[in-house]
This record gives sequence, structure tokens and C-alpha cells, in this order.
Amino acid sequence: MTKIKMTTPLVEMDGDEMTRILWKMIKDELLNPFIELNTEYYDLGLEYRNETDDKVTVDSANATKKYGVAVKCATITPNAARMTEYNLKEMWKSPNGTIRAILDGTVFRTPIVVKGIEPCVKNWKKPFTIARHAYGDVYKASEMKIPGPGKVELVYTKPDGTEERVLVHDFKSAGVVQGQHNINASIESFARSCFNYALDLHQDLWFASKDTISKKYDHTFKDIFQEIFDKEYKAKFDEAGLEYFYTLIDDAVARIMKSEGGFIWACKNYDGDVMSDMVSSAFGSLAMMTSVLVSPEGYYEYEAAHGTVQRHYYKHLKGEETSTNSVATIFAWTGALRKRGELDKNTELMQFADKLEKACIDTIEGGTMTKDLALITTLENPNVVNSEGFIKAIRSNLEKLL
Ligand code: NAP
Ligand code: MG
Repeated sequence: MTKIKMTTPLVEMDGDEMTRILWKMIKDELLNPFIELNTEYYDLGLEYRNETDDKVTVDSANATKKYGVAVKCATITPNAARMTEYNLKEMWKSPNGTIRAILDGTVFRTPIVVKGIEPCVKNWKKPFTIARHAYGDVYKASEMKIPGPGKVELVYTKPDGTEERVLVHDFKSAGVVQGQHNINASIESFARSCFNYALDLHQDLWFASKDTISKKYDHTFKDIFQEIFDKEYKAKFDEAGLEYFYTLIDDAVARIMKSEGGFIWACKNYDGDVMSDMVSSAFGSLAMMTSVLVSPEGYYEYEAAHGTVQRHYYKHLKGEETSTNSVATIFAWTGALRKRGELDKNTELMQFADKLEKACIDTIEGGTMTKDLALITTLENPNVVNSEGFIKAIRSNLEKLL
């Protein structure tokens, strides 16, 4: 069999711990035998980040801007314990945070649905995607405890020194207060990412906020989405037969419970935080979820939604057997390869990505799975395998499809 060729390199961001082990297994067993992999490799493993003063993370994000598509392995975000464990020069920032700040985008997460791992909500037939705005609101809020009586105001000081004031509350007794903000440019790029992604996936887009109560703050989100939609996307959506639908957040939640799925749900930062955890656990597991960062300029970074699975890695280091689910990491690769194929008009590469995904699904639906899935499957007597055994089983199904 001749290997599939790639014209443009894919930006490859290696990572840490158990997912780094899986990364190599995936390349050795599922990619290198079939593709002449053309990647520009960046080692985002914590040791090399530390060695390069985290320059490698910035370089990898800039390479993504150059080539357009990246695939990222899960990485450690250092905390105090990691400082000692890895003898770090500094508590380096989260690589995802650094990359997101450079690419400026929205994170889209979609459950990977297989027979035998059933959603808790019985009418959810198709997965839906949560698009989470990743800037501002309560995550960048300023707060104060108010000890007793007194007036709290919002004050906007203009560059010329003049002020505008709004009363928040005239406290008669103790309480709390919070100031939130967002930036129009960030909301605009969030909106564009969502519209582009909906066209890409050929799915309807829903967006919800609480504009009836928040007549300026949430209403601005609603207005920006609508303006950008009317000006830049309405014609494209009409042509594709797709719908953009705005509703109130409480109405959206009620409708989603009754829906079949198969659309994109754009969420403000907090709504997206809460709802993506609800959706992923209702569909099964974080290891059965795709995740992609889409920038408004059309750069794509594919990753797994879970972390480096530290507990399994320590078992692996002790020579003990692990049963770590590699599906999300494999789907990060297939997402990136398919997008690379799409941009380069490389049909063979796109078809390979489809087949590798199908091989993963076939493997699980055939009853062979890792422990995390065996615990929740409705299939009887699942064949529980270790990390390597699972990837080998996928390879044998892949070979049948090629
Ligand atoms: P985690 O890696 O997501 O794992 C938490 C637990 O979830 C695991 O111990 C395991 O449960 C289960 N799990 C997650 N992924 C699994 C998989 N693929 N297969 C089977 N089980 C899986 O979170 P963590 O252990 O709290 O974090 C480890 C490191 O990851 C941290 O340093 C954190 O900074 C980093 N992190 C990175 C990213 C990213 O790069 N995108 C995201 C989140 C966290 P059991 O132990 O019960 O089997
Ligand atoms: Mg959360």
C-alpha cells in the first residue's frame, strides 16, 4: 500500500504524561503506517516549555497562524506541586490560555456518539456542539463585599476626565456587589467564529442570553450577533438552507431537552462553562468529546477535551497496566487531518480521517473498550482492554476499512 501524501505541514503540539504516551502510540500504530505524515513538530511537554522559557508555546501558536491547522496533545498547567516535580524556573501559564490569546477564538466541543454509550436524555439522537465564548463576564469580574449602609455606583471616566455614573444600589445594610465587562471586538469575533463553524458543519446555530433582564449587557451580545449575521452571513445561511436562531437562555434550555440535537449552541462564557459539563456528562465522558479552537481568521487547533490523565501516567511509570481511552486524542488528529485535507483539496487524507474515526466507533460498538466506557456501557460483557490493546484493536478495524 502506498502511503497518503500531505502537501502542507500540520502543526503538531506534543504534550505531557499519559496523553504523551498515547500520542506516540497513535502515531506509530494508526498514522505513520498509512500516511507520510508532514508535521512541523513543537514539543509542548513541560520540560521543554521550561527549557525554552515557554517560547515554544508561542512559536507553536504562530506556526498555526502560518499553516492554519494544528493538533495539540493535552499539557500540564503548572501549579505549586508541578514547580517542585519539574524543577521549573517559573509557574508557566496554561498553554491553552497562551494559544487562545494569540489565535483569539471560540472553543467548540461535541460529544462523540456511539451505540452502547447512551445519552441520559433519551430523545438526544444526534450530538450537539457547545460553542463557548472564552472572554470576560464573571471570569474577569471585580467584586466587593459591602459591610454596611452606603451607595455603590458604576463610574465611567472618559479620557477627558468627565464622568458618567449609574447607581448600582443604595445599601441599607451589608451585601455584595460585582462589576462585569466584555469588549465588543471579542463578542464580534465570537459571533463570526460561530457563524463560520455553523457553515463548516452545515448545522443551524442557536444563541441565547437574558436580554429581557439585561437590557444593555446581554442585549449587546444579541445585537452584535444579529448585525453580523444580517450583514455578513444571512445570504450564506440561506444558500446553505441553515438557520440562525436567537432565544432567551431559559427557553433554549427547555428546547434543548426536547430536541434531537444536531445543531450548534453558542453560549456566553458562564453558560458555556456550566452547559458543556452538563452536556458531556449526559452524553457519556470527557474522553468521548471533540474539542476545537476556531479563530475568526479561520485557524483551527484540534485537541482532546480532557487533561493529561496524571493518575494513569503514574501507574504507567510504575509498570502497571493502564486502560486510558485514546478516542478524544485520535479525534483531535482526525479533525486536524480532515481540515488539512479540506484546505489542500486532499480527498485521500479526508477519507482516511473518516475511516479512522469509523474504526474507533466500530471498535467500541463491537464491544472492545477501555475501562471508563466499560463502566457505563449498555452492551453486555464488554471486552475491557488496556491502553495499547485498544489502539491495536482500532488498527485492526482500520485495516479492514482501508
Ligand atoms: P484529567 O487528565 O482530565 O483526568 C481526570 C480523570 O478523568 C482521570 O484521572 C480519569 O479518571 C478520567 N479521565 C480523563 N481522561 C481520560 C481518558 N482519556 N481515559 C480514561 N479516563 C480518563 O484531569 P487531571 O488528572 O485533573 O489533570 C491532569 C493534568 O491535565 C493537569 O496538570 C492539568 O493541568 C492538565 N489539563 C490539561 C488540559 C488540556 O491540555 N487541554 C485540560 C485539563 C487539564 P480515573 O482516574 O477515575 O480513571
Ligand atoms: Mg467548568
